[in-house]
Formats: sequence, C-alpha cells, structure tokens
Amino acid sequence: MNIQEVILCKYGELVLKGANRSSFESMLVKELRRRASPYGVFRIYYRQSTIYIEPQNDACDMQGMYDTARKVFGIVGVTRAAVCDKTMDSITETVRAYLPDKLAGARTFKVEAKRSDKQFPLKSPEISRQIGGLILSLMRGIRVDVHDPDVTVTVEVRDEHAYVRAGQENGAGGLPLRSAGRGLLLLSGGIDSPVAGCMMAKRGLEIEALHFESFPYTSERAREKVMTLAQEMCEFCGRIHVHVISLTHIQEMLRDSCEEDYFTLLLRICMMRLAERCAAQFGCDCLVTGESLGQVASQTLAAIRVTDSATSLPVFRPCIGLDKEEIVGQARHYGTFETSILPFEDCCTVFTPRHPKTKPQLGAVMAELAKVDIDALLDEAYATMETVTLRVYENYRG
Ligand code: ATP
Ligand code: MG
Repeated sequence: MNIQEVILCKYGELVLKGANRSSFESMLVKELRRRASPYGVFRIYYRQSTIYIEPQNDACDMQGMYDTARKVFGIVGVTRAAVCDKTMDSITETVRAYLPDKLAGARTFKVEAKRSDKQFPLKSPEISRQIGGLILSLMRGIRVDVHDPDVTVTVEVRDEHAYVRAGQENGAGGLPLRSAGRGLLLLSGGIDSPVAGCMMAKRGLEIEALHFESFPYTSERAREKVMTLAQEMCEFCGRIHVHVISLTHIQEMLRDSCEEDYFTLLLRICMMRLAERCAAQFGCDCLVTGESLGQVASQTLAAIRVTDSATSLPVFRPCIGLDKEEIVGQARHYGTFETSILPFEDCCTVFTPRHPKTKPQLGAVMAELAKVDIDALLDEAYATMETVTLRVYENYRG
C-alpha cells in the first residue's frame, strides 16, 4: 500500500488569542514556508487549529522538515501522520500498513479518536474500540493502557481526510517569532546570553544582537565563537544581525583614569549606553541580557540598579531567577552549550578588578565615570560598529 504522509503541527496558547488568532496562524505558516525550502516542495496551510505540511513529491526530506518544524516558536506539538480516505476501510488499511513500525518496541498503547466531522457514521469511542482491537490482533505482546500508555495512537476524522498517527513530540512552544516586536540582545560568548536571547525569541521577540570586543585583548577567535553562537541561535531565531563594537579604547581609558574597583560597573554603563544607541538605530524597543541575580559581583541587586540607570529602555533578563544548572539545561536545549564553554576571553574578563564593588552607590559610580570624557569615547566606540547577518540557512528570508 502506498502511504501518503504529512506533518501536522499543533499550536496551543495561540488558540486563546481571540482576534489575533488568524494573524498568528498566518505568521506560523509563513515561518514554516520560509523554513521549508531546503527540504523540498511542500504545501503548507492551516485548518481547524492544525497546520498541515504536505510533501509535493518523493524528493521531499520529511525528517528534515519535521526537525525544523520542531524549532518554530508558537508550535506546541509536531507529529507525522498517514492520510486516508474517510471510510473505516481506508482507516483500517492504513493502520495495518502504517502503525506496526511506529509501535515497534512499545509495550502499551491506547487509541484516541477525534471526530470533527460529525457526519462520519461511527462515533469516537466506537472508532477507538475497533482500531484498538485491530492493533491487538496485529501486534504480539502489546497491551492497552488507557492511563499511562507508551504510545498514544490517534485517529482524526477531519473535514477532508482522516489521519492516523502514533505519538506526538513537543514543539518549541511560546509565541510566533516576531509577534512581539524587536529586542537587542547583548551577546557575549558565555552560556547565559544566548539562552536569554532564545528565551525571549520564544516569547515572540525578533532578536538583533550586539557584541562588544576588545581587540587585541580579546582575540579574533573570541569573535568567531560569538558568531558561531549566533549561528546556532538562528536554528530558533531564523535570522540575526550581529553588530560588533570595539571597547578597547574605552577600557584602556577607564583603566588609566578610574578607580579599579568600579571598573566592571563603569564598563557595564558604557555597554548599556551603546546598546541604547544601537537599539534606536535598528528599531529595537528593549534590551535583553543574560544576567542572573547574584551570579557575579556585577549582578547583585545594587549593581543591576546601576546598570539599569544607564538606559531608559526596558531590560529583559529572562535568566534572572534561574540557577546556573537550569541555564545550562536551557543552553543544551537550544544547542549553544558546547560552543559557550569553549575557552576564549571576553571583554568583561579583561582588566577585571580584584575587589569589585558589590554594593555600589550610583553617585560614586558616576563620579568615577566623570573622570573620562565619556561622551567622546562612546561616540568613538559607536563608530567602530561592524555588522554581520547570520541565517538558519543561506537563502532564508526572514
Ligand atoms: P554570559 O554567560 O552571558 O556571558 P556572564 O554570567 O558571563 O553572562 P557577565 O559577563 O557579567 O555575565 O555579563 C552579563 C551580561 O552582560 C551577559 O549575559 C550579556 O548579556 C552582557 N555581556 C557581557 N559581556 C558582553 C559582551 N562582550 N558583549 C555583549 N554583551 C555582553
Ligand atoms: Mg560573560
């Protein structure tokens, strides 16, 4: 029997969004279409709270398409399904041909039938009972467990066709990319900031990135590492413009003119001011950082207050309440962890003070900053900006 397979994507939270719903649905469809082209020609559309991804020929890479669909924010579940006609004969024949492979190794299963076409002659419990009986007769040793099955088989009778599938994997969750506006991520080479960027992208933010380097104190390879991280983030974020600004001269001036204990805080104020300018230039309405409360001296509450005073934009810090282990878990999930732990220096680790202030007073910090001509230094730093654009694949048009 020739089985026609499709990919079905389910979305969750979106369903609650009332009038926005159809615009969110079309955002998801557009994103899936943008993602699809490396994997072949697919027809992609939504109907009845489900997105259908139908391969148009045998050359389509279903696994590739499936994997990329799992990285599209806004989708909560992804599954492959076999399409059949809306008759019990066709459903039965499809179950025979399609399911034994999918159930191999499972000890228990249950069948869930969903019938959105109320004209279908059998009711859902009856469909479940018949298909359950059929599976028991096809597969040796498998049992029904309606409470905690290894695999849930679903038979859905919809408007045009019926669909048979086994199991469903989680999608990336959250809200569609770009549905919440644009934010500027301060991207270092560490573990935390790539995670922060992905977490905010998950809430619908389009991510633009800003990286500070301090060449020659930081190396060419440190910059490459950040580009690798941004490239990895593109798996979820689609496309990222990475802006790079040199802090070398600012750092040297702060080192030569200001008290060492304030050094990190002064640098952070400079970063925020430059980030604010960059955000204005590129239409970003918030900043995103990877800070986590109390993790290091510059992330105490008092230090964060000083940092926040340097910008009027909202600063999102999605890692603020996470432990390092939890952040590492997220970094593995988003695929950035292995790159993040490569040992290259960051501009924050150049000239680090021996005794950084953990309870800084804003007045004292600003008095230190007044020792240099900060406006001129920031202008000069901003002028060093270079931009690189990275995409999930070369011709992705986000
Ligand atoms: P990360 O793991 O993200 O580097 P961290 O724990 O090392 O964070 P810090 O070095 O204090 O913490 O940096 C705090 C935040 O400041 C980072 O999460 C990032 O958002 C931003 N940041 C730090 N260094 C840079 C940099 N070189 N370029 C851009 N942003 C930076
Ligand atoms: Mg860091």
